[in-house]
Amino acid sequence: MSMLGVLRATEQARTAAGRPGARPCARALEGAAVLALALSLAMPLLSGCGPQGSADNTRDAAASAAGVQDRALQAELEQQERIASAHPREHLRELQAIESRAAPGSSERLEALSQRAALLAQLRDRTGHEAAVEALKAWPETSPVRAQIPLALMLARAQWLKANGELGAGVRLLGGLAEIDAAKADRRMLWRATELRAYMQGDYGEVDAAVESGLKALEQARAMGSRWRAATNDATLAFNYFRSQQFDHALRAAREALEAAQQDPDPVLMYSVHTILGIVHSQDEDPRLSQQAREQALQYAREAQAPGLQALALGNLADYELRSGNYARALELSTQSLALAHEDGEISTEILARHNMGIAKIGLKRLDEGKRDVLQAITMDAQREAGSYTAEAWLELGGYLEKADDLPGAVDAYHRARKEFDAVLRDETRKAVLEAQARFEDQQRQREIRLLNQDNSLKAEQIRTRDLQLKLWAEVGGCVLLSGALLALAYRRIRRTNAALAQTNESLRVQSERDPLTGLANRRHFQQAIAQRTREGGLRGSLFLIDIDHFKRINDQWGHAAGDTVLVEVARRLSSVLREQDLVVRWGGEEFLILVNSEATEDARQLGQRLLDQIGGQPVDHGPLRIPISASIGFASFPMAPQDLTLEWERAIDLVDTVMYMAKAHGRNKAYGVAAMQARDRDQLLALAGRIESAWHQGQVQLVSLLGPVQEGRA
Ligand code: GH3
Ligand code: MG
Ligand code: MG
Repeated sequence: MSMLGVLRATEQARTAAGRPGARPCARALEGAAVLALALSLAMPLLSGCGPQGSADNTRDAAASAAGVQDRALQAELEQQERIASAHPREHLRELQAIESRAAPGSSERLEALSQRAALLAQLRDRTGHEAAVEALKAWPETSPVRAQIPLALMLARAQWLKANGELGAGVRLLGGLAEIDAAKADRRMLWRATELRAYMQGDYGEVDAAVESGLKALEQARAMGSRWRAATNDATLAFNYFRSQQFDHALRAAREALEAAQQDPDPVLMYSVHTILGIVHSQDEDPRLSQQAREQALQYAREAQAPGLQALALGNLADYELRSGNYARALELSTQSLALAHEDGEISTEILARHNMGIAKIGLKRLDEGKRDVLQAITMDAQREAGSYTAEAWLELGGYLEKADDLPGAVDAYHRARKEFDAVLRDETRKAVLEAQARFEDQQRQREIRLLNQDNSLKAEQIRTRDLQLKLWAEVGGCVLLSGALLALAYRRIRRTNAALAQTNESLRVQSERDPLTGLANRRHFQQAIAQRTREGGLRGSLFLIDIDHFKRINDQWGHAAGDTVLVEVARRLSSVLREQDLVVRWGGEEFLILVNSEATEDARQLGQRLLDQIGGQPVDHGPLRIPISASIGFASFPMAPQDLTLEWERAIDLVDTVMYMAKAHGRNKAYGVAAMQARDRDQLLALAGRIESAWHQGQVQLVSLLGPVQEGRA
């Protein structure tokens, strides 16, 4: 499982970051009781090991006995902070013990409670977490750290939201950090909150903001003299730079993470850093560094004696081998990964291993076995309602089945991927989408208000001209000649004002129904237009779904701006073969939908060919670059021959979507059109649509197949 596996691995690495290794000083800290007994003995050891064991404690070295105890507690708490999330249940108890040892209302007790709240969130223990939040709220008014409670609460709540996948709400909540006085805030909590903000913003898709927060957290870590924190920040930063395709920055941050981690290493921190390095180097032409980093990550995972991390590291290596086409090696690695994942009991790791195993088998042409493994992985993901993972998994399965020449299987998998992505939009990420929508509408409203203000100034102008008009009439008697000239002037002005008003209204309407990049209609417009056209009965006309081939590669190879140019140019090429009354829509990222009135299959065939020729006939110019492109198209005409059956427009789109994916699976740069379907009624039609490839082979569906132009510079 490609990026998906890697992402999961990173996520896991992060939760586990700081798990104790074989370092003697970490072990010296494991038992609170041991530490309590050997406080004074342990102190020199403590200050020699943790990066922060000493740096957090800048108070007078000749402190009182209580001071020594405080510092010991602080050091112990810092070790907890590094390691607890790897074994949350165990450390929950240890933190509780520390809490009861610390003086009521003290900074140490607050820190212990704050860390405990984090673990409870991680475990999604609602009752426990709520109790921790209540304990924070009830913090004694007289405590010297009472002022830290708002920060502690914000952090605890955001951690809860993160654990429950409510990224948007978490990001908004942590926006409150702007109100916190950094100079007076508890540095540990402030750092955790800032790093969490960076992490959540990254996952939420606000990558730029994530980098900004990440840099802030890094600054805080450095001010604390804490190398492990800095290494953690650098790793998150590297990942966010990577996500925003700033590969140079990503590489630099990953190297800095490595440097900082090497100065205060522990196997798990080193595992995380090498995982990031593996990700960052996956962009290199030469695959060796990426592979090396992944192998080192595996070594550290072994050193950490953490089966979960070993399973993930093996999963990452297997993924690498899959992409290099070394299926036998990938199978070996993922089999090992699966065994370790069982031992660890972490379900998502098991799913990853099983999925990779299945894909490896498919690569080895053990199709049935491989499909069974992948389906099992998908079922497990479906059970835990991880919809975005199942969608990705179907998509990847489709790709490998296509490579293995199982075309019907590939088409089926692609189609399911599409359905799942739709479902994901409806269910799991609906909230995020709604939030994005709300943000968008907010901006839209502001724009409308600006336009309305302009509108008002236009109205004022209108009133002024009307005054002028009245004045004119008053003066008419005085000087006919002059007023005639003025009248003409006033008339022109009024006309201009009215035209401007009309334009404002039109641009308001158009803006909400246009895709800003290509200027084509958007989905919203399409839905309105199609609802009008299909008011009585089903859809009539010919429908085309067009998807640019390997568009992601264009972005990856030439940059996002080049991708945008291609989109704009494709929109132009499409419009050039269409007529005014045809409906053309930017349906999604690199997908376009066309509806023309003609119901004749022959017309549709001709238009399909023209579309292929137009899109792929010439490379697209972007500055000095000439980018070869092609597209895959699915189309159908309704009512459907031979029985003249109609479909609702949503089902009609499903159908052209399926045949479009067939065109993809059968080599791309081609179009399939449905000429006829041997069905008596709508239900039979839908049944055939559900298994179109086999229905085609059995002669129950007639397809026309069109080839796109051969291009220079394109394999
Ligand atoms: P296939 O041939 O199977 O269709 O492969 P593909 O790479 O075209 O398909 P995929 O769906 O994997 O990738 C589509 C890409 O389109 C991913 C996304 O980042 C990119 N994309 C979506 N919207 C935009 C946009 O507005 N501008 C640019 N530059 N890229 C976009
Ligand atoms: Mg697409
Ligand atoms: Mg595409």
